[in-house]
Amino acid sequence: MAEKLVIVGAGVAGVNAATKLVDNGFPGKNITIIDMGKDPYRRPYSEVMTGFLGAGGWSDGKLTYHTAIGGHMSKYCGEDKAMELFDEVINNFKRFHPKPEEVQCSDPQAEPDFIKPYFGLRLFPVWHVGTDYLHEIGKNWYDYLVSKGVKFIWETKVTSIDFDAQELYCDWNTPKETIKYDRLMFAVGKSGIDFGKQLADDYKLPTEPKPVQIGVRFEAPQKHFQKLIDISYDFKLYRKFEEEGVSLRSFCTNNNAAFVAVEETYGNHSYNGHAKKDEQYRNDMTNFGILMEIQGIEEPFTWSRELVEKIQKNATGLYYSPTRTPSTTSEGEDVSAVPIDELQLDEIRLAFQGYYTYIDDFIDDMKKVFPTLGDDWGVYIPEVKYLSPEPLVDYDTLALIDYNNVHFVGDALSARGITVSGAQGNYVAEWILQCVEDEEEYPEFFENY
Ligand SMILES: Cc1cc2nc3c(=O)[nH]c(=O)nc-3n(C[C@H](O)[C@H](O)[C@H](O)COP(=O)(O)OP(=O)(O)OC[C@H]3O[C@@H](n4cnc5c(N)ncnc54)[C@H](O)[C@@H]3O)c2cc1C
Repeated sequence: MAEKLVIVGAGVAGVNAATKLVDNGFPGKNITIIDMGKDPYRRPYSEVMTGFLGAGGWSDGKLTYHTAIGGHMSKYCGEDKAMELFDEVINNFKRFHPKPEEVQCSDPQAEPDFIKPYFGLRLFPVWHVGTDYLHEIGKNWYDYLVSKGVKFIWETKVTSIDFDAQELYCDWNTPKETIKYDRLMFAVGKSGIDFGKQLADDYKLPTEPKPVQIGVRFEAPQKHFQKLIDISYDFKLYRKFEEEGVSLRSFCTNNNAAFVAVEETYGNHSYNGHAKKDEQYRNDMTNFGILMEIQGIEEPFTWSRELVEKIQKNATGLYYSPTRTPSTTSEGEDVSAVPIDELQLDEIRLAFQGYYTYIDDFIDDMKKVFPTLGDDWGVYIPEVKYLSPEPLVDYDTLALIDYNNVHFVGDALSARGITVSGAQGNYVAEWILQCVEDEEEYPEFFENY
């Protein structure tokens, strides 16, 4: 008999997992998905991180298609299996897409000579779904899961979980009301990272060591980067300083109709970006993160949080440019950021404890590679990826070492993007299906346990 599965988080990971389960005969009525956001019919654009498809719902809809990008998958299951799981995620986005024929893959091959003296260039395939379609995809996908009997509980925040009693508590619960589970999928994404940390602390979960990932969101008119964009839409410039334990990469490049987005984590503002596909939004801008990965910092999570907290002003992030002003969002509102001058930037450099030099050098070298760039750019400070804590899981099941019915998936584990998050959800779903099959085949074995 199929067990009761509760998924915390209706994001990319949770939704893909539920889809694979019901596609393969797992009864939908045995799946409950709890999310603090809204269903796709009621989710407004302003709720960037929560609701059906989570952060993926209002993302740039770029599905990376390479195991070196977007977090860890192959370390759990090997290269071939990872690619198979990626295919399943991409097929789901096509399957619920109103115009699946428009989902195209860009697969750049050649590394141009003009980049080589200054940067490495990572080229990898990307499937482009288009932000504008994500809303419709969400509705179609949601309708499918509901039609299969999956139960959704919206606008409900899970506040604590008792792994021993196998029950969880929500913000609407009176002390006596709980939700029971046989198996739990913890799929809370970045918006639930605090919750993950709380559980890791409460249960003293062993964790994997993680580096700091912090930097800025860089923005400039697209024309300066066009010769590279023609080769690779989502280009990734990178460089590594082996001895210093620092590497830098450009992250999540947006073009054509490119907008900077504010992310709110732990009450602080940081930045990300997304692009619209519809021509009406075209602003001919480019934005991407310049992210440093810094090894060897003790307590990387606390270090990043304290730094982000320190560089907030008027309850938001900062904007520096030699010549420009902050842009507007796709809705025509100002991007929330306090402009600072060169003197104030020096204070930020101090707060970064010397590491900002790497960003200065990165921008200086971009000016050499893209000669028209000059001072025609700006940076939103900071962009941050909180990578900690990552609980140690069984690589075959993504379940906690001490609680084999509690699976961590997506950004709550080690993902940093849509394809890997969805693939991790599908990987666990596959394992659950295998358990159900084994139980049906060998009932006497399971009766004894
Ligand atoms: C602006 C932006 C653009 C992006 N663009 C891209 C892109 O183009 N390509 C790409 O690959 N990645 C992109 N990403 C990252 C990508 O969206 C995430 O990596 C992915 O969505 C993670 O999937 P997930 O299922 O782990 O978490 P999410 O999709 O974030 O879903 C987590 C869900 O859990 C819910 N939740 C959290 N805590 C609780 C709680 N306590 N109780 C109940 N519910 C809870 C949230 O409401 C949310 O719906 C972008 C992210 C942002 C913010």
